[in-house]
Amino acid sequence: MNRRELLQRLAYVVPAGMMFPSLLHSCAPKDPPLKPVYDGKVIIIGAGISGLHAAQIIKAQNVDVEILEATNLFGGRIKVNPDFFDFPLEQGADYIYGNNNAWYSAIEGTGISMVEIPVNPAYVMDGVPKLESELGSDIDFQNAQSFINNLINRTGPDLTLENAVVSAQIAQRAHHVVEGVVATPKGATYDSISVKGITENLNLWNDGDGRYFSQNQTLVQIVGNIYSNILSLVKFNTPITNIDYNDPTKIVLTDGNGDSHECTRVIVTAPLAVLKAGDINFSPTLPVGTTAAWNRVGMAGGIKVALSFFVNFWDKQVSSIYTQGYAREYYAAGMGRSNSNKVLTATIMGAQADALAGKTDEEIINLLLVDLDAIYDGQASHQFNAEDSYVFDWSKQPYTKGAVSYPIVSGTGAAKTMATPIEDRIFWAGEATAFNGNNGTVQGGIESAERAVAELFEIILDL
Ligand SMILES: Cc1cc2nc3c(=O)[nH]c(=O)nc-3n(C[C@H](O)[C@H](O)[C@H](O)COP(=O)(O)OP(=O)(O)OC[C@H]3O[C@@H](n4cnc5c(N)ncnc54)[C@H](O)[C@@H]3O)c2cc1C
Repeated sequence: MNRRELLQRLAYVVPAGMMFPSLLHSCAPKDPPLKPVYDGKVIIIGAGISGLHAAQIIKAQNVDVEILEATNLFGGRIKVNPDFFDFPLEQGADYIYGNNNAWYSAIEGTGISMVEIPVNPAYVMDGVPKLESELGSDIDFQNAQSFINNLINRTGPDLTLENAVVSAQIAQRAHHVVEGVVATPKGATYDSISVKGITENLNLWNDGDGRYFSQNQTLVQIVGNIYSNILSLVKFNTPITNIDYNDPTKIVLTDGNGDSHECTRVIVTAPLAVLKAGDINFSPTLPVGTTAAWNRVGMAGGIKVALSFFVNFWDKQVSSIYTQGYAREYYAAGMGRSNSNKVLTATIMGAQADALAGKTDEEIINLLLVDLDAIYDGQASHQFNAEDSYVFDWSKQPYTKGAVSYPIVSGTGAAKTMATPIEDRIFWAGEATAFNGNNGTVQGGIESAERAVAELFEIILDL
C-alpha cells in the first residue's frame, strides 16, 4: 500500500488531496475512522498550516496529539494585520496559487468567494513604467519575457538564475524583469536561486492556474474555521528548545520556559531557517544527511512594506510594478479588496531584504519612496500617507527567521532528504519539506503534513 492509498483507506484524502471536517463527514458512513490502536502520544512542533493540518488528521484517528507553538498565535506565516487602512492586510501568505490544490479546494468548500487577480503588470524600463502592450518593440524586454516563458523547458547546467540570465545574453536593463517575476515570489534574489530548481518545480507543479484571493475573510479567519475542531490541542507560548530522543521508549521535549513534554513520536514543522539556526537542539545529534540537506535549500529574509497614498498615482488597473529598486515587486494589495486601491505593497526578498535588515522602518520606507519618486515624478512622497504605512520583516520574527524556502544550486533532492524520518520517531513537515514543486506555498505546507502523517501512520497504526 503506498502512502496515498494508506491515507485514502483512512478516509482522509478526498480526490483533491484534502481532508477537512465537512469532507470527512461526507466520507464517514462509508469509511468510519479506525478504532484507536496506538497508545502513545504524538507532539507536533508548530501551529502553522502544516502543524494544524497534521494534527487534524491524527486527531481524527483518536490518536493522542498535542501541538506546541512558540508564539501566542496559530497560523505561522499566515498572519494578518486586521486594522490596516480600509482592508485587512495579509503580512505573509496572501494569494492562493492555482485552482487545483488542497488549499483552494478547502477554501472553496467553506463557501468563501475567491477572486482571480487580474494580471496587468507594469515594468519599469529605463526608469519609466510601461504595460506589456507598450513594450512590444523593446527587444531586451521581449528576450527577458521569452527567457521566463521557456524556463519550464530549460535543460542547461545547474546555475544561479543570474548566471543563467547572463549566459542567455539578456541585457542588463531587463534583468530585474526576470528577478522580479521569477525569484521574488520564491523568496529569493536571482543571484541565490537555482535555475535548475525553478525548472524542476515548474515541471512538478500540479496545483492549477491563476492567482486568487479571498474577498471576505482573511486567511487567518479561514484557517481558524477550517481547523476549529483542533485549536484546543494547541499549547501556545511553548517554544521548544531541545528534543531528547536517546531513550527508545520516549522522546522528551524541553521548552523555553523550562518545562518538559513527553511523547513517543514528534512531527517537527518549524521553518527551515529556525532549524538551520540551531534553535532546536537534538540529542543525539541528527544524522549528517539531514543537516547537510538543510544547507542545500535556501531560506533568506523577506520584508513586506505596505505603503498607503492619498491618491492612486500608478494606475488603478495595474496589478503589480516590477522595478530595479530596493523592491523588485510592488503589488496593489488593495485591488478588489479596498474601496480606494491606494496601497502598494513592496515585496523585498532574499539578499535584498537581508541588506535592509539593519535599517529602521522609517529608513526602509524612505528608500522605497525615493525609488518610487524617481519613477512617478515625485508623487510617492508627495502623496504618502505615513499613518497607514508600515514594515513587516519576517527575518525578525524569532520563530520564522525568514520568508520561504527556495532551491539553490546543487540542491536537487535535498527537500526529500530533509523530509526523511529519523528512527521512525521524528517526522518532518513544513513548506520546505514539500517536494512536489509547491514548497513556499500554503498548499505545500498542507501536502507536507499529509506526507508526514502517512509516514507516521505506517509506523504506529496496525493496518
Ligand atoms: C512574505 C510572505 C509571503 C507569502 N506569500 C504567499 C502566498 O501569497 N501564497 C502562498 O501560498 N504562500 C505564501 N507564503 C508562504 C506561506 O506563508 C508558507 O509556505 C506557509 O504558511 C508555511 O506554513 P508552515 O506550517 O510550513 O510554516 P509556518 O507557518 O512558519 O509554521 C511554523 C510554526 O512553527 C512555530 N515554531 C517555530 N519554531 C518553534 C519552536 N522552536 N517551538 C514551537 N513552535 C515553533 C512558528 O511560530 C510557526 O507558528 C508567503 C510567505 C511569506 C513569508
